[in-house]
Amino acid sequence: MSDTPPKNHSARDVLRELFPESYRELFGEAQGQESSLTLGLYPVADGRLALVHGDQLAEFSPLEPRGKNALHCDLCHFTRSRQEAAFYRVVVGARRTRYVTLCLDTAACQRRAGTRGLATLADRIFPIETSYAD
Ligand SMILES: [Zn+2]
Repeated sequence: MSDTPPKNHSARDVLRELFPESYRELFGEAQGQESSLTLGLYPVADGRLALVHGDQLAEFSPLEPRGKNALHCDLCHFTRSRQEAAFYRVVVGARRTRYVTLCLDTAACQRRAGTRGLATLADRIFPIETSYAD
């Protein structure tokens, strides 16, 4: 990464750069109507999820499932089968990684969790060290 660090970009800018297709689906083409505090988990490419909170963005990468125990969703706190949830890895710093379990049906999951649940998850993930990009 030799580009200028995207430090002053909003998460939506980052989302738009990295996943233009998803961005258009989520926010349409509308420009300049920045919501004051975006909070949400959005499906992006390759089974990944992007957690957006205000001007921060974290990328959740799915992991190969291991074992056969039921999973406990870290967002809506439902117990899910292996077919209904997945492990995700989130790099939050140079040597810091978080692992979270989330329902695959993220829209229903977020409805169950509500804004409060999302805010709690965001508190576990953010802030992200911006220097890890090297
Ligand atoms: Zn869930």
